[in-house]
Amino acid sequence: KTHLVWLRADLRIHDNPALYAACQDPDARVLAVYIATPEQWRRHEMAPRQAAFLLDNLAALRHALAGRGIPLHYHQCPDFSDSVAWLADFCRSQGADALFYNYQYEFNERRRDRALEQALDGRVTCQGFDDGVLLPPGSVRTGDSGMYKVFTPFRNACLRKLAEADMQCVPAPARRVNPAPESRDGLAPFDYPRQAPGEEYPAGEDAALSRLRTFCHQQMQDYRKARDIPSLDATSRLSAYLALGVLSPRQCYNRLSRAYPLVLEHADSGAFTWLNELIWRDFYRHLIVSYPALCRHQPFIGWTRHVAWCRDENLLAAWQLGKTGYPIVDAAMRQMNQTGWMHNRLRMITASFLVKDLLIDWREGERYFMSRLIDGDLAANNGGWQWAASTGTDSAPYFRIFNPTTQGRRFDERGEFIRRWLPELAAVPDTYLHEPHLWPGAGEDGLDYPRPIVDHGSARQTTLAAYKAAKDRG
Ligand code: FAD
Repeated sequence: KTHLVWLRADLRIHDNPALYAACQDPDARVLAVYIATPEQWRRHEMAPRQAAFLLDNLAALRHALAGRGIPLHYHQCPDFSDSVAWLADFCRSQGADALFYNYQYEFNERRRDRALEQALDGRVTCQGFDDGVLLPPGSVRTGDSGMYKVFTPFRNACLRKLAEADMQCVPAPARRVNPAPESRDGLAPFDYPRQAPGEEYPAGEDAALSRLRTFCHQQMQDYRKARDIPSLDATSRLSAYLALGVLSPRQCYNRLSRAYPLVLEHADSGAFTWLNELIWRDFYRHLIVSYPALCRHQPFIGWTRHVAWCRDENLLAAWQLGKTGYPIVDAAMRQMNQTGWMHNRLRMITASFLVKDLLIDWREGERYFMSRLIDGDLAANNGGWQWAASTGTDSAPYFRIFNPTTQGRRFDERGEFIRRWLPELAAVPDTYLHEPHLWPGAGEDGLDYPRPIVDHGSARQTTLAAYKAAKDRG
């Protein structure tokens, strides 16, 4: 018997339901396969940093699998439809009886999986598993069995389920008694731009698990208060691992509830606040399953389609490069451009600035974030952008507009974060740091830093009018 495990966004051997199921029969020959699809990734705007991180993690995974006697076959083809054709052939050539995989919930991925099942036409049994979520999409339902559209009741329903659910992780497979021979295909680098993720991101599930442990034991207590301050290293930085499935949310939950057994009861604790974030992550994943149009550039709130966006390449480029003249926005964009990660508070501030101060279509921002983030994840990114743009379910109301200067003062009071990313403001005293154009000490030549590209007060009025007009139309 031959069992094939198709690995996608689940690059780990621990708590991998598909891998675990494939290994249940001790006599089966178990092979794993990974298919790189660079053309598809290009269409999905995958960041070169994420591509490099993926390759590093694939190498670690291949090593871990080899230790269990499971060869990892690697193949590259342009896009999802080619991958379906290739995999159907591969199943045939290997005489596979069953194919195991963990679901991906995005629209194109689901379509690909349906196409594969059709191509296999019952010759190979396909077994899919829920993964990459705390609770399976579709399992958290309102009284009349719909999807929750508001986060808090969704969260409360999740908490009730989590208290009852079996959240045990499945173990890594034992070493096969009759291991299949090593795969001969090398792990060739993909045909896709790659940018080294840096020391911050060691590859492999051991690194992810060790970060999870350290975070739980050393930082969780302060998380509630410190997580909003970008100059502090107060969040887990696990998002890049979660996005590729090097770590699972169940593993996070298990570690969390072992360290803080009363987490579900202490709503004011750091542990509860962190769990809340993991549930936000689930919320956005469940939403894209219930509303697949979210994966296809559609807003959740229909009337927002009528907002007359401003198309200004110069303003967009200034935002992308971190040259808006608003220090907190610019420092944040530079953090992302230079490292591939941006603090959550800053994602909210920069997204709001693009949409509400520059009146630029949120989809431009969504695309740009995806192309730069090491933790790029369709559901979370789309959810975050639609929240900031007031186009999503349970998002900020359109008339709530962040003031970037006030936000900067509030969350980077002494400018520690700004100074780290904007060395050109080194000489500016704290009092002027959030409005450097007002600093009288800049001298005749001024600072080597732009003046604000828009005036927040008038931009706010323009945006309110544009949203109101769209709402009246819609
Ligand atoms: P922690 O604070 O340690 O949180 C733990 C985990 O919970 C994170 O790793 C992440 O998986 C999840 N999480 C935390 N906050 C959120 C949230 N608001 N929504 C969904 N999941 C969350 N997150 C991504 O993983 N990928 C994205 O592409 C992404 N794009 C975003 C775009 C915008 C405009 C906004 C506002 C948020 C976005 N987020 C995204 C959510 C959040 O900013 C990041 O998950 C978080 O900053 C990652 O850092 P961390 O791992 O240290 O988080």
